[in-house]
Parts: sequence; C-alpha cells; structure tokens
Amino acid sequence: MNVEEIDSVIEHLRCATCKRYLMWPPIMQKPHGDNICGRCALKDTNEVFIRQMTLEEILRKLSFPCKNESHGCKRRLHFGKVDRHEMRCVYNSTVCPAMDCAVSDLLINLPQHLSEHAEIMKAQLKIDIEIARDYKEMIGATINGVTYMMQYEYNAAEKMLCFDIRGLCYKKAKYYLSLRNTAFPNSCVSIRGGTVPPYFQIRPRVNLCITKYLPALEDSNVVTFAFVIKSRQVNKHTQTDPLIPPPLIVRRRLRVDIMLMHFHRNAN
Ligand SMILES: [Zn+2]
Ligand SMILES: [Zn+2]
Ligand SMILES: [Zn+2]
Repeated sequence: MNVEEIDSVIEHLRCATCKRYLMWPPIMQKPHGDNICGRCALKDTNEVFIRQMTLEEILRKLSFPCKNESHGCKRRLHFGKVDRHEMRCVYNSTVCPAMDCAVSDLLINLPQHLSEHAEIMKAQLKIDIEIARDYKEMIGATINGVTYMMQYEYNAAEKMLCFDIRGLCYKKAKYYLSLRNTAFPNSCVSIRGGTVPPYFQIRPRVNLCITKYLPALEDSNVVTFAFVIKSRQVNKHTQTDPLIPPPLIVRRRLRVDIMLMHFHRNAN
C-alpha cells in the first residue's frame, strides 16, 4: 500500500468522540459499536467498554499524520507514540515571548519573527544590570545559526538574578557565565555554567545571588552578565532547520550500525 492508499484507509479509523485518529491505546468499543481512543476512554468512566485487541494490532502496522499536517508537518506517527512528537512539534502555534507582543505564529516561524524585534535581539546574550534597580526583561541572540532567548528578572533587594535560557533548536547546548564590573572590565569573575535546554523542555529558572561576587567586582554599581553559548555551527550543507530533528529513520539506521560495530568488535 502506498501513502495515499493508507491515508484512504485511516480516514475510517477515527475516534467517535474526539474525531482524531485512533492513535492512543487502549482502543475501546462502546456498547453500540463505536470505537474510541484511549484518551477519551479514560475520561468516560461511566460506560463499560470492550478492548479491541485485534484492531490495535492493525493500528500498530499503520502510521498517521501529525495534528499539524495542515500547517506543514510531514512527520508520520505510530500508534501509541504520538504525545512525544506532538509536544515538540515545531508546527505547533506559540505566542511570541517578547514583552508587549501578542503575535501568535508557528514555532518554526519564531526565529524569523524574533529577528524583527530589533529592541531585544543582540549580538550576544549579555546584559548590564544596575544592582540597585529591579528588572524584568527578555533578550535574544542568534549564535551559530540558532536563536537563543533569555527571560530574566533581577531583584535589587535580594541581589538575585533569575533567568531562563532556551534554544530554538532540538539539541541542548551549554553556557558559561562571567560577571564583570561594567565600569572596570578587568574586575571579572567566571562563575558557572549550565545547560541550555531546547524549546520543548520545561526547566526551572536558575537563581543566582550575586552578593558574594561583589567584592571581587570591586563593589560595582553596574554588573555585566555575559552568557557564552557553546554550540557547534548548524550544518549549512544539509540545509536543515535547527528546530527540526533529523528524520527518525536515520537515527534508527545509525543505532543498528553502532550495534553491528560492537558486535564485530566483540567477535574479534
Ligand atoms: Zn478520542
Ligand atoms: Zn508534527
Ligand atoms: Zn513578537
């Protein structure tokens, strides 16, 4: 069966309640014959259902389009393996994270949209903080072809910087942080590093109290925080978007190759 033929078959394999494809196990049949997906069956606890094991076996052999197919997603999803992709699908809609901007667009278009916010896009993730003033802002920077966003809040009373750096990229990166006395740049401390999660990972904000670093910075009134992102240049030859992971099939093939390598090594 080619993709068109499969698609004409799966059109009949929709949940009677949510109308989406029957992609979530267990597939249940209602007393009057309708099939519903596992998600809807969970919500409907008053009815008695019969599990459709044979239908599930058939569904396992098929692949279904992502819910964002009409927005351009070409990924085919397998039965029971939907949530992981749909959570990180770059064709999901998202609201621009810039303050005072309510534009909603597909995530894949966000780097282009952010590049039009000249007021927040910088050459580097670097901020100057007057230590007696509160801040709540966001900046962005494009480094090695990947757009990074940093939301931060500074509380002057506690001398606490809370920040969240995120990469519009499916791969995580690393950052290093240094603090500098803005007026006397030779007074500087390199303090810590961390991980920059990709867009789809929810992580708590990092809290950094700067009180103990102030003597080393000769008690500066303005501190420059420089976040240096360590990432590789996105491969220009493959022309892939840094937001889109390589097709699954490539990774599977790779895993088989690695297993074979181990096998040969152990056999020798
Ligand atoms: Zn359903
Ligand atoms: Zn998708
Ligand atoms: Zn915006």
